[in-house]
Amino acid sequence: METKLVQIGKGGAFTCEDEAYLREAAEIIKKGGLVAFPTETVYGLGGDALNPDSSRKIYAAKGRPSDNPLIVHICRFEDIRRIVSRLPESAVRIADAFWPGPLTMILPKSRAVPRETTGGLDTVAVRFPSHPVARKLIEYSGGYIAAPSANASGRPSPTLARYVAEDMDGRIDMIIDGGEVGIGLESTIIDLTVEPPRILRPGYVTREMLDGILEKTDIDVTIIKPDSGQAPKAPGMKYRHYAPRGRLVIVEGPPEQVIAYINRQVEEDRGKGEKTGVIGTTEVLEQYQADVVKCIGNREAEEDIARNLFSVLRELDEEKVESIYSESFPSKGLGQAIMNRLLKAAGHRIVRLPADENGTCINARESSKTNHHNESDGRTIK
Ligand code: AMP
Ligand code: MG
Repeated sequence: METKLVQIGKGGAFTCEDEAYLREAAEIIKKGGLVAFPTETVYGLGGDALNPDSSRKIYAAKGRPSDNPLIVHICRFEDIRRIVSRLPESAVRIADAFWPGPLTMILPKSRAVPRETTGGLDTVAVRFPSHPVARKLIEYSGGYIAAPSANASGRPSPTLARYVAEDMDGRIDMIIDGGEVGIGLESTIIDLTVEPPRILRPGYVTREMLDGILEKTDIDVTIIKPDSGQAPKAPGMKYRHYAPRGRLVIVEGPPEQVIAYINRQVEEDRGKGEKTGVIGTTEVLEQYQADVVKCIGNREAEEDIARNLFSVLRELDEEKVESIYSESFPSKGLGQAIMNRLLKAAGHRIVRLPADENGTCINARESSKTNHHNESDGRTIK
């Protein structure tokens, strides 16, 4: 199949040409085809959410396991009524506060939504995105677009059309290039079928923000304790995800110790003939000695770190880096979503450097050996 690539909205307002492309894309979706398009979170791979064949095609194009449900995107709040069988008051409150925007709600599904779209579940995930291209495309396509992230299953989510093309060229009908996305991490998912509502995937809308709207929210235990042994409630969260091709290890600890540890590991891996890479923050970037050093942003600017994470992982792939070390980030606020994605990308390989009460590392050499031993089975290392 030939994939048509078009650019839309790059100059701000939509031109007549942009409108024509949007109509063409909508026709493809109405006929059961697939179109990748920008949203404010990451690029989505869209098909008609109410057509079971379209959903099957989405799974096939991504190589996604069919038990991993898709998010249905709408462009008007009222449209939610057709696809859910019950609309709790909490959903209205959340929509008032965060829609259109980077938040997905899980609700009981109506019969209009085929099980192919929900991965066989009785619930449906719904989001009303704010990106102007996404909103127009949904409207012109009939109102309901199922759209997972437009990456091949397991790969980092695409933040640029170029990355969509890398994974999807020849597998889908069209890619709409709308420039770089704004947020760079997928939507927050909140399950409203349980009481209190539970966050299944952390994102730009944080627990603190949701707590301001709802009386109480829970968070899926697997997000806070990835080694809890329990299955995540969002089926997709159980898969290894966002992974670069190289072996990624996160290093946590006092900054000087982290830098020293990473530089030692880089030296060792180079000795084995591996190409090495580091994901670091602006403040300490020049202290790293790896073959490829990628800046993920300023430690103080979490939004930049979120936006850069997936593109940095893809760039390390482009440069064929085999062994990658990343700094760690505090798991508060937006940091929770950043660390959730980074840990998944690393297959939960994390080295925690012990520090004494002055922040000085104790016995780092020895702990690194232990850590390396444990890394091989991908467990979180304490
Ligand atoms: P993606 O579309 O790639 O952002 O992934 C969608 C995420 O939403 C996956 O982790 C899914 O498992 C999750 N999801 C979608 N529908 C449901 C649902 N009905 N219940 C729980 N999780 C869901
Ligand atoms: Mg995804």
